[in-house]
Amino acid sequence: LENAVSGERSTVRGRVLVNAGGPWVEQVLAAGSGVNARAKVRLVQGSHIVVRKLYEHDRAYMFQNSDGRIVFVIPYQDDFTLIGTTDRDYHGDPSKVKATREEIEYLCASVSEYLAKPVKPADVVWDYAGVRPLYDDGASEAKAATREYVFELDLPGGAPLLSIYGGKITTHRRLAEEALEKLGPYLKGTKAREGWTGEAPLPGGDMDVSAIPALCAELVRDYPFLAAAHANRLAHAYGTRASRVLGSAKSMSDLGQWFGANLTEAEVKYLMSQEWACTAEDIVWRRSKLGLRLTPQEIATLESWISAHRVSPEPVLAATGGQP
Ligand SMILES: Cc1cc2nc3c(=O)[nH]c(=O)nc-3n(C[C@H](O)[C@H](O)[C@H](O)COP(=O)(O)OP(=O)(O)OC[C@H]3O[C@@H](n4cnc5c(N)ncnc54)[C@H](O)[C@@H]3O)c2cc1C
Repeated sequence: LENAVSGERSTVRGRVLVNAGGPWVEQVLAAGSGVNARAKVRLVQGSHIVVRKLYEHDRAYMFQNSDGRIVFVIPYQDDFTLIGTTDRDYHGDPSKVKATREEIEYLCASVSEYLAKPVKPADVVWDYAGVRPLYDDGASEAKAATREYVFELDLPGGAPLLSIYGGKITTHRRLAEEALEKLGPYLKGTKAREGWTGEAPLPGGDMDVSAIPALCAELVRDYPFLAAAHANRLAHAYGTRASRVLGSAKSMSDLGQWFGANLTEAEVKYLMSQEWACTAEDIVWRRSKLGLRLTPQEIATLESWISAHRVSPEPVLAATGGQP
């Protein structure tokens, strides 16, 4: 292993190896695994745009375009509307993917056919793109390629190597269970727990989603200095762990530096120590969408603060509550 930040190298010995390289799954195989990839990955770009709130209600729309594709319009982050997505084959470096002008125009034109007021590229306040690493099933069009995940198990002579193609966030735990089932014969002596993830909450999710308003009320009662919008954001982002972010604070100033948009030093420290936040981008885009509300200057201030306060993250199991 090589730490990409410090350059530090270390060695880990394992009985099995899982290649979860996402869009880089083939490159991982090519980089000295001793396996000639049998399967192929099909990289399909998807781009989204965000505009100021288009309508007041909280329903989503799905529209079918004349080209047969589906485009959705979803209320987003209280004050915005999310429009997506596109499907086009991608051949470049996955880390460089960006929404193109053509995709932005396509999304605007698609939804404008249905909405009362047209959406124009100039209305876009943010856009983002990603690459789906789909299993190449030979489908002629990107939109028709399978969205199911596929495993390839190779036995190159050393540890068995399981490569993962495709997948969805919504099925990641089922995928992980199945991966372990496939590797079971090579993990003798390790007791796999069958089908346990369906009922196990993710960190902070040990509550019913309908209890969010009650959690907000509890936060405002326990931390009376919190604005309702602040409590609401923390409840949605951290669930029952919101009180860990706030700790024993008795006033706003106890939460430390204010970075704008209700983001405080206490939350930044929590994200750095518990959720592997290493950069401002991790915080304002990966772990929240506060980038929609913060100015470039505020984000730059946050970046400088993080660089000056880097901490070693706690071991991985800490954030999963000790669940392997
Ligand atoms: C546009 C788009 C829309 C989507 N919409 C949905 C949706 O609505 N619902 C849904 O459930 N899913 C959706 N997905 C799918 C979902 O985002 C992916 O399934 C999920 O992120 C895959 O996670 P992963 O960990 O397998 O791969 P990734 O998140 O791609 O992680 C792979 C990781 O491997 C690392 N890596 C690569 N090579 C190496 C190496 N040599 N050494 C160390 N690390 C390496 C990379 O840095 C990366 O962090 C969407 C995806 C896209 C692109």
